[in-house]
Amino acid sequence: MLMSQLYSPTLRETPSEAEIISHKLMLRAGLMRRSAAGMYAFLPLGLRVIRKVEQIIREEMNAIDGQEVLMPIIQPAELWEESGRWKDYGDEMFRLKDRQGRQFCLGPTHEEIVTALVRSEVRSYRQLPLRLYQIQNKYRDERRPRFGLMRGREFIMKDMYSFDRDHETLDQSYWAAYHAYKRIFERCGLEAHPVEADSGAIGGDVTHEFMVLAESGEDLVLFCEACEYAANAERAEGVRVPVQEGEKTAFEPLETVATPGASTIDQISAFLGVEPKDCIKTLIYLADGKPIAALVRGDHELNEIKLKKFLQCVELELADDETIFKVTKARTGFAGPVGLSIPCYADYAIEHIANAVVGANKDDHHTLNVNLDRDFQVTAFTDLKETQPGDPCPRCSGTLQGARGVEVGQVFKLGTKYSDAMSATFLNEDGKETPLVMGCYGIGVGRTVAAVIEKNYDEDGIIWPLSIAPYQVVVVPVSMKDEAQASAAQSLYEELQAEGIEVVLDDRDERPGVKFKDADLIGFPIRVTIGAKSLEQGQMEIIWRRTKEKQSLPIEAIVPTIKNFLRDGDQI
Ligand SMILES: [Zn+2]
Repeated sequence: MLMSQLYSPTLRETPSEAEIISHKLMLRAGLMRRSAAGMYAFLPLGLRVIRKVEQIIREEMNAIDGQEVLMPIIQPAELWEESGRWKDYGDEMFRLKDRQGRQFCLGPTHEEIVTALVRSEVRSYRQLPLRLYQIQNKYRDERRPRFGLMRGREFIMKDMYSFDRDHETLDQSYWAAYHAYKRIFERCGLEAHPVEADSGAIGGDVTHEFMVLAESGEDLVLFCEACEYAANAERAEGVRVPVQEGEKTAFEPLETVATPGASTIDQISAFLGVEPKDCIKTLIYLADGKPIAALVRGDHELNEIKLKKFLQCVELELADDETIFKVTKARTGFAGPVGLSIPCYADYAIEHIANAVVGANKDDHHTLNVNLDRDFQVTAFTDLKETQPGDPCPRCSGTLQGARGVEVGQVFKLGTKYSDAMSATFLNEDGKETPLVMGCYGIGVGRTVAAVIEKNYDEDGIIWPLSIAPYQVVVVPVSMKDEAQASAAQSLYEELQAEGIEVVLDDRDERPGVKFKDADLIGFPIRVTIGAKSLEQGQMEIIWRRTKEKQSLPIEAIVPTIKNFLRDGDQI
């Protein structure tokens, strides 16, 4: 490729829309351009990187007997109604109608389509296991699209779906995909850590996310310093510590005091001069329309995912002011567990608090010295708090540490959630009609590229791993006006091409500084500079992008050196 022809408009300044490094560099290096919030056009260099990641994914999926298919992006509402997700998916789903008024959506994921695809064809256990995958655009109308490819509304995803006869063989499909994912990210030059996660709207019980640790990550990952335990913070388990004998003594008498206008934990603790950890936060929720109370320690945050899972409800939302008044007889901000007649669920930490401060269920009042059993009962104790760095490990006696992470992939055991809802069955060995046991496995292709950049850059630009670099080599003659340089560059360019090496010749009539800056910004792993002086001595200079090391070599050694380097792949 000739640089003068390449459509790769580079930018000297960072566009104001970009906040994180991968987003800035993808715009500056001319890899992509924004067309609407969360939607991007890939330019030639960007698309080459995307295609290389896709190819790695394809090879690893094929290696575990995945078969590639391509399903429609536009999906009929009826299938989503069968699974019950037409409603559940909410505003994140892009919906549209055809000319007859039939409803469709732009696929945010493909469980429904793929289940419908196999249910009429797969009849016997002999056709199983079946693993189908595709690489395609997905659509989610994110409330806050941001960070370029990290959180887009249109994004490229590889999604695989496995169909098995039972949970044992699902286990094999699941771990095959898990290990394929490890290889995929390794081949992309990424260290991705599998962590326990929540299954969210997809459903299912067992799931791992693959996380790349990076400051810009939107997720908090907790991992144990002593054992292998690692989990997304929203999923990380809390530990129930038994109450020690004599831990809680000297129960003081109940006292209700006026706390005018103080309704938040911060306001209360400041007003009464108590620590937030000695207060109990009482949150009133509507779980499938029914009011319940949830208690967490004042300095803890409630994790709604855990509460929802524990209650096994479909919808969970904070109660409105009217409901709160009906339940507590007070304005929002003054609820407490004493005398409440709705079910009350408490986090484990509540067991340990003596003489707590709680809302008095009376406007502008709080109650002091509240004690479990003596003053209030709970329906059940469970793990409700947001787990934090510094909390104990749920698997050993170690302590959890935190790091920001970018989720690049996720594997799920779905079980029979979709096959039950959509009647996707097969005949087992005994001739009995049995639901297909499913798994699903996603990789964000664009997000993987962004994560690679987050981990591979310097002040001059991107440093591509060899495996996914848009081109491996750029040949830069210092002056195209110098005939000797131009012709030496042209023959090197042709020789590299003949060797099957991906090479760009910077044939632009630009100052060398401009060419070098662009080469570093785009991040070609290898640059060959051809200058007048070295050429006279029969030499050219190789510059390795990652280390910035320079090497002057005889002209005839250039191609073999590059070939060796590409073969050994010592920079991945
Ligand atoms: Zn541990």
